[in-house]
Amino acid sequence: MEIKFNGQKALVTGAGRGIGRETAKMLSKCGATTYALSRTEEHLKTLVEECPAIVPVVCDLSNWDRTREIVSSLGPIDLLVNNAAVASMSAFVDSTKEEFDDTFAVNFYAVVNVSQIVVKGMLADKRHGSIVNISSEVSRMALKNHGVYCCTKGALDALTRSMALELGPHGIRVNCVNPTVVLTEMGIKYWTDPIKAAPMLDRIPLKKFAEVEDVVHSIIFLLSDKANSTTGSLHMVDGGTLCC
Ligand code: NDP
Repeated sequence: MEIKFNGQKALVTGAGRGIGRETAKMLSKCGATTYALSRTEEHLKTLVEECPAIVPVVCDLSNWDRTREIVSSLGPIDLLVNNAAVASMSAFVDSTKEEFDDTFAVNFYAVVNVSQIVVKGMLADKRHGSIVNISSEVSRMALKNHGVYCCTKGALDALTRSMALELGPHGIRVNCVNPTVVLTEMGIKYWTDPIKAAPMLDRIPLKKFAEVEDVVHSIIFLLSDKANSTTGSLHMVDGGTLCC
């Protein structure tokens, strides 16, 4: 199965590191004109050194108004990957309003913000498009001391279904990819302690965390016309955790 995005424009958020970075590289390799948006300029510089066709976009997604200006300036986008996210750890009773606000700002409100701009462009030109939101298996299961992050991903799943319902008649598909642990910088921060990792691994029927490329392949498939009848779905990359 060959996937090509020639003639299409793609935007990946959180593309400086981890899953977003590899997704941007794969989109570019598949022929899309690819905008890689992230907060830290240095990460985007090394990305462009690796893959000169990629267009870097420095943007702090927690700034609503500035994000609107920057994303609007990119012009029409056909393929959007809402990948950027932050995570923190705290027990429910200790979670602060600030922690909820900061996490929701990037993991949820920024998805609304960026998607509205991109979708308005698609609707104005009557262009079909595809959007993939990077959620997590924790949108559907509780994880001790990760309540704030879990809430943002639950909200993202709900947003994905609402977008799919309203945008489907316009030929715009919206899906989620929901991975288990992936050992990116985010994954390493929380899941390298064997005392924490062992019971998590034990819950996974495949007995392994997901690789970055497993997640990227699912994203690319859902963006492509090979997934033309798929919208509003939660695509689990969880090694089977949620089937048990
Ligand atoms: P990383 O922490 O490795 O990378 C996150 C990227 O998002 C970085 O490039 C970071 O930029 C960017 N980012 C964070 N905040 C902002 C902001 N305010 N504005 C712009 N960019 C920002 O994460 P992963 O690659 O591991 O995660 C990617 C996605 O996958 C996320 O949605 C995450 O929730 C999800 N996921 C990850 C799992 C895992 O175990 N790793 C498991 C399940 C889901 P900067 O370099 O400047 O910080």
